[in-house]
Parts: sequence; structure tokens; C-alpha cells
Amino acid sequence: MSKFFSEKYKNLTPYVPGEQPKEREYIKLNTNESPFPPSESAIKLSCEQAEKLYLYPDPDCKELTAAVANINGVEFDNVILTNGSDEVLNFAFMAYCDKNTPAIFPNISYGFYKVFAEINGVPYEEIPLRSDFTIDVDEYINRKGTVFIANPNAPTGIALTVSEIERLVKSDRNRIVVIDEAYVDFGWESAVPLTNKYDNLIVTQTFSKSRSMAGARLGFGIADKSIINDLITIKYSTNPYNVNRMTAAAGLGAINDKKYFSDNCKKIIENREYTVKSLKDLGFTLTNSYANFVFAKTDKISGKDLYLKLKERGVLVRHFDKPEIKEYNRITIGSFEQMQKFINIVRDILEEIK
Ligand code: PMP
Repeated sequence: MSKFFSEKYKNLTPYVPGEQPKEREYIKLNTNESPFPPSESAIKLSCEQAEKLYLYPDPDCKELTAAVANINGVEFDNVILTNGSDEVLNFAFMAYCDKNTPAIFPNISYGFYKVFAEINGVPYEEIPLRSDFTIDVDEYINRKGTVFIANPNAPTGIALTVSEIERLVKSDRNRIVVIDEAYVDFGWESAVPLTNKYDNLIVTQTFSKSRSMAGARLGFGIADKSIINDLITIKYSTNPYNVNRMTAAAGLGAINDKKYFSDNCKKIIENREYTVKSLKDLGFTLTNSYANFVFAKTDKISGKDLYLKLKERGVLVRHFDKPEIKEYNRITIGSFEQMQKFINIVRDILEEIK
């Protein structure tokens, strides 16, 4: 750290993204990316924009905003597009948390929430999950502050029903609830329809997972018009051109290719079912994941050792040192071939340590 670094950031612990190693070809099951390329239509529209890169993009991304609104059954004014959903989440921390309005989120969840709270200098409270890793909505109902919940949650994949979310949202109409639906397309129900009814709910989603566009950085928030206006104020006060031309065009292409999207989601769900069954057959315990990853442990080998042995054999999964979950690994669901190889390697490792 240089001597010039602002006092306000000196104690910041940044988010640690999953490894992106270059030294070796891994079966990469550690960052919840899609194993499939973006749709051809996304690639084509994006490439067409390359020659226009000398011009700024449309700061309102009108065409894409209209398309996102359309597939979500909301109006244009209910949508904000951002540079990944990380950005809309940060905007929500900036807009709706301050010293009198803490951020509230589960103690086991997306690690970035804590970093967003810290960089924005807002107090936060981490609410423990139940012992089975489920979220107890009443814990949030009984507290004041802005709630951030990933649904399905990460890294467990466990999801709350929309009626539980509605109970939380309507319990206090004077506070904001943010539901982060990064993983909702892999078999869970979205809370977006509730945004038509409640002006204190923000739902965020991403093109990074189900639409194979993690490298393009595209996410969005859906909420009441008044909320979107607040978030747009933040956007125009930080980076009006937050979504670049090639990304906006790719997003439009991805939305147009409905079949590719639904086929890929279906494949991930099937591969998840195969992985769950195979790991259970090998004696693993798993959470009930509705995401594009599973969360698994076994008493035959520690979480950390399994992670290391998999890495030695060319498979990357995500391990977290946090005491409550250190016996687990989060395994992204890849292609069927990747998951078959993964299972075979796990079987070999368990044989070897017998
Ligand atoms: N929310 C959750 C729960 C996530 O796991 C991620 C991905 N790391 C994000 C949001 C952010 O994804 P992106 O910025 O790529 O949209």
C-alpha cells in the first residue's frame, strides 16, 4: 500500500475472485461460468459493433433495455443495465445504505456483499444461516436495514420460495430488499413479478451464467421506476457508459436466441442431476442446489485436501476456508464430459486414500 492511499480505504479487504490460471489447461469448475460459448447471434452482433468502437455507446442502452424489460414482463422504466450484476449490487449499497441504514445479509453468501459494504463505509450485519444452511426470513423481518439475499444462495444453491420473499418484502414497506438472482435460471422461480407490486424490492440478474457472457460483463436490476431512477442517478454520477457497445449488442443477440438459452439451462440442470447422483453414490453429502453449481462434502477427505488433490489432477473447484463450510467444495456444473471426468477423478482420489 502506498503512503498516498486514502484513509477511508486503508482497511479494505478486496473480494477474491476464483482462480483463472494460465499455466495449465484445467477442467475449470471454480467460477460458475457456463461451459458453453455465447450464442452465435450474440457473437455476430457483438463483432459488428467492433468497427464502431471509436464512438461512445448509447448510455441508456435503449434497445437492450427494452428487450430485457420485454422478457421480464416489465416496462422500460423498470430496468437498469450494468457492468455485470456486481455493479447494480454496488449501486444498491451506495443508494440504500448509510450509517443509519445498515446492510443485512447472510453470513454465508456472496462474498462481495461485505466488500461493497466496506468500500461504501456502511455498517453491516451478517445473519447466521440455520444449521442446515437455509435462510430464516424472520431473522430479517425482525431487523432494520437494507437486505441483500442471493436467491438461490451462494455457495449453497439453496433457494427461498417467492412467497417467503414476498413475506419479507411486505413486512416493512419502508425498507429495501435486494434479491440477487444470479443463478435463478437453473430451475428456480424469479421474484421479478413482485416488483410490479412492491416499490421496495430490487431484483438483480446477470448474463454471466445462463447466457454464457461472463467475459462481457452484463447485468441488470429490475424495480419500481422510482428506484431505477435512483440507481440511474448513481450510474450517471460514476460511469454513464458502463455497458460497452460490444457487450450491449451481444446481450441483444443472447436474448434473441431463446432456444439456445433454454437448451443450455436444461443441459446444466441435467448435468447437475447427474453430478448430484454420482457424488451421492460416492458417499458425499450435498445441499439442495438450484444453481449451476453443487456444494458437497464427504467425511472420507477434508474439503481442503480434496480441493488440492483435484487441482493436482487438473480439476479446479472452489474451496472456502470459512469454518462453517470448510469441509465443502463448490463445484460448478460444466459440460457432461467435464462432469464425467470430474466424477472419475473423485472416484480415483477416494480409492487412493482408502
Ligand atoms: N451474485 C452472485 C451470488 C454471484 O455469485 C455473482 C458471480 N460471482 C454475482 C452476483 C456477480 O456476477 P456478475 O457481476 O458476473 O453478473
